[in-house]
Formats: sequence, C-alpha cells, structure tokens
Amino acid sequence: MTSLFTKIISREIPAEIVYENDRIIAINDINPKAKTHILIIPKKEIATINDLKDNDRELLAELFYVAKDIAKKLWISEWYQLYFNVWEKWWQEVMHIHLHLLSEL
Ligand code: AMP
Repeated sequence: MTSLFTKIISREIPAEIVYENDRIIAINDINPKAKTHILIIPKKEIATINDLKDNDRELLAELFYVAKDIAKKLWISEWYQLYFNVWEKWWQEVMHIHLHLLSEL
C-alpha cells in the first residue's frame, strides 16, 4: 500500500515542502509539536528503522545532513531536536521512515 508520505512526494496530497532533492523531501508537520516541526523523509519507502538494509546507509546519513542544513537555514542550529519513532505498535503513526526536526527557536 502506498504510504501517506509517498502520496505527498507524488503530489497526490498537498504539503508544505521546505526542501527536496532526488532522494529526500522535507515537509512541515501538519500537527506541529513545537514552533518548528519538520519531517525529513527519504523518497524510498522504508517502513521503519528496523527495515533498513545495508545499502540504505548513505540515504540514512543524508537525512541527518539535510536536517543540519535546514536547521542552519532556519537559524535554529543552536537548539533543535532530532528523533525517529520506531515503536511500531504505538508511536510510529506513518509507516514510512521520517526524521523529526523540532525547535522552539
Ligand atoms: P510518527 O508518529 O513518528 O509516525 O509521525 C508522523 C507525523 O506525521 C506526525 O507528527 C503527524 O502530525 C504527521 N503528519 C500526518 N499527516 C501529515 C500530513 N498530511 N502532512 C504533514 N504531516 C503529517
């Protein structure tokens, strides 16, 4: 089944896109838990961190570099939080990995 984020990537569902390249998209969270709440999402549909393959290493690393660059661009480099939800039965709502970037700056 196509994930919600794949539908956003293919523009089937609208979202506020803050960054995009061939491999990654970053969008504003629809229900922000902080002043800034951005989701950094690989275009490759990987359900959870537990589903990462060896050849996803570079892609996973790139998520963090994109996060760092977005934080710098938004002037929040001195105070932000990054996390993945992985507890599949509860916390992870969307089964397509995404790095949360939050800041109150
Ligand atoms: P998680 O609980 O880690 O799976 O996080 C999923 C996140 O996706 C939540 O913070 C939601 O608010 C967010 N979300 C759900 N639907 C959308 C949407 N259509 N556009 C942007 N963010 C969304």
